[in-house]
Amino acid sequence: MIPVSDALDHLFALADLLPVETVPLRAAAGRVLAEPVTAQRTQPPFPASSMDGYALKAVEADQHAQFKVIGEAAAGHGWDGTVGAGQAVRIFTGAPVPAGADKVVIQEDVTRTGDVITITDAPNAKDNIRPAGVDFEHGSVLDAPRRLSPGDVALLASMNIAEVPVRRAPLVALISTGDELVQPGETPGPDQIIASNTYGLAAMMTAHGAVPRILPIARDTDTSLRTVFSLAAGADLIVTIGGASVGDHDLVAGVAADLGMDQSFYKVAMRPGKPLMAGRLHGVPMVGLPGNPVSAMVCGTVFLQPMLNAMLGLGRHAALRVQMPLATSLPANGPREHYMRGIVTDGSVADAGAQDSSLLSVLARANALIVRAPNDPAAAPGDPVDVVLLH
Ligand code: AMP
Ligand code: MG
Repeated sequence: MIPVSDALDHLFALADLLPVETVPLRAAAGRVLAEPVTAQRTQPPFPASSMDGYALKAVEADQHAQFKVIGEAAAGHGWDGTVGAGQAVRIFTGAPVPAGADKVVIQEDVTRTGDVITITDAPNAKDNIRPAGVDFEHGSVLDAPRRLSPGDVALLASMNIAEVPVRRAPLVALISTGDELVQPGETPGPDQIIASNTYGLAAMMTAHGAVPRILPIARDTDTSLRTVFSLAAGADLIVTIGGASVGDHDLVAGVAADLGMDQSFYKVAMRPGKPLMAGRLHGVPMVGLPGNPVSAMVCGTVFLQPMLNAMLGLGRHAALRVQMPLATSLPANGPREHYMRGIVTDGSVADAGAQDSSLLSVLARANALIVRAPNDPAAAPGDPVDVVLLH
């Protein structure tokens, strides 16, 4: 048995950086920007009005001053002339501020009669003009790597980047194992249950920028498992679920070894998730997760997400932990690192109830994992604990 941090190091060593591909901007959200991109233009490209009003000379903008309106500038339709003394141009938000003007008096501070405006309220000091390039200049850089947020996509659009260099999304083959499993929607036999964590893991993979491929369920025979392994060809990561212990029906380690897996480790000192294994199979990283639904999901959070981040070029970091006070007391921990299902409310965390690794209802209720170090003594309300937030 190795500690969680050693297991992570092994997994990072297996996590090959994925190649770069180009996607249309519309498909870029959630992808990882692979290379810095430079703005193809300056924004705004001209000094732009930030208000509806009148563009004129700031030195003349006194209360009661009068101006002759000599033109109009709207968004998309500038006014080509030059504003002289005693003159103003009607202007709207987003319009280029004409030459000669260096202030926009908002329309609320003005009365207009025919072509003549009078400033009725003392204008404030703001010029209501967005200088050219105040957002970004031609050649400004958006740094990589970064997972592209909706806001990043808007920025890229504004920079006129229509094609975005991103890391290829890792294709993750998910192999469920077990004679007892059927797919959701099927009718299970009397001794059967529904494959559940497979779907939870697929959702987790999708949320972290991967493309999951749910393979047919492998039955608990060597032949069936070999067949399903062969369907994983082309994947960037193979994840098996279940069959990882040492029971008579736990076939994954044996079959993977027969197929030539180069094993990195087997068994991690954690709870839940002890029978975790990993290695390289025909050049492809493979992780064998325990079958218990909560174990599989916790291992997904603790191991697969950081591994995917590494493959996407986002660095080699363990799942982010924050510290917060306990809202409940906790018993002393055993010799393995324990990831307890917890509920964070108002900045403190309580355990989410029974910690059996088969209880998906408890996991669904939880929004965090409380991390207890090996042999951590009993903890009382108010004691600080490490927490991994789940969503
Ligand atoms: P195993 O590691 O195959 O011994 O599985 C441990 C426990 O997890 C057993 O109770 C299995 O029925 C259950 N299990 C294994 N795989 C899945 C799965 N994909 N979805 C739900 N439960 C599973
Ligand atoms: Mg099994």
